[in-house]
Amino acid sequence: MNVRHSGIGMTSQRTRMRMIERLRAQGIADEVILSAMGTIPRHIFVEEALASRAYEDVALPINYGQTISSPWIVARMSELLHVTSNLEKVLEIGTGCGYQTAVLAKIAQKVYSIERIGPLLTRTRVRLQELQIRNIYLKHADGLLGLAEAGPFDGIIMTAVTTHVPTTLLEQIVVGGRMVFPKGTQKQNLCVIERNSQGYTETVLEEVNFVPMLAGVIKK
Ligand code: SAH
Repeated sequence: MNVRHSGIGMTSQRTRMRMIERLRAQGIADEVILSAMGTIPRHIFVEEALASRAYEDVALPINYGQTISSPWIVARMSELLHVTSNLEKVLEIGTGCGYQTAVLAKIAQKVYSIERIGPLLTRTRVRLQELQIRNIYLKHADGLLGLAEAGPFDGIIMTAVTTHVPTTLLEQIVVGGRMVFPKGTQKQNLCVIERNSQGYTETVLEEVNFVPMLAGVIKK
């Protein structure tokens, strides 16, 4: 790890471990996820001016009007997705700064992640390469269409809020697989959709606060 990655003071391993203890106290019990979040240098996913706040339990701005999800949200969504230890393929919609992507790369064999804002994805691509995370495939596209050519997926995670999930996306979940996403408008909740041989079941969980899922792509 280089010096910027290893961090000092508010970006040090000790600060990161305090974040892990907080997540544990808040009910996150999946040790694989806690250990992943304990090793990934979250501070390099935000602008340098915000690095000292990277381990606080808050969402922070990452340019283009988007936000990096709080550590708790990342842990919670990862935990909801990681119900089986055998996640072969996962699809993430809304790469953003790539922090959630990096966590997913530790719990799945292969992660596909789609982002609609081109320049945001370009920076994220460099960052994830720097971290030498190799089991990910990033794509600049409208994620609402999914990625049929790579599917079906054991898990799909959406990191922006929507009112309904398009059928094309639901069809890309394997039977026995699931999708974790925020749903709503003013009031949003985490949702889990599970696919079984009969169809789909939806479970509505705690209230959350995400940026909206938008259609189309932004080139520059
Ligand atoms: N997990 C990311 C969350 C970023 S915020 C992180 O922690 O950094 C949500 C992201 O979803 C934004 O980057 C936004 O541009 C992206 N997004 C919104 N609608 C999208 C769509 N239709 N397809 C792909 N990405 C989308």
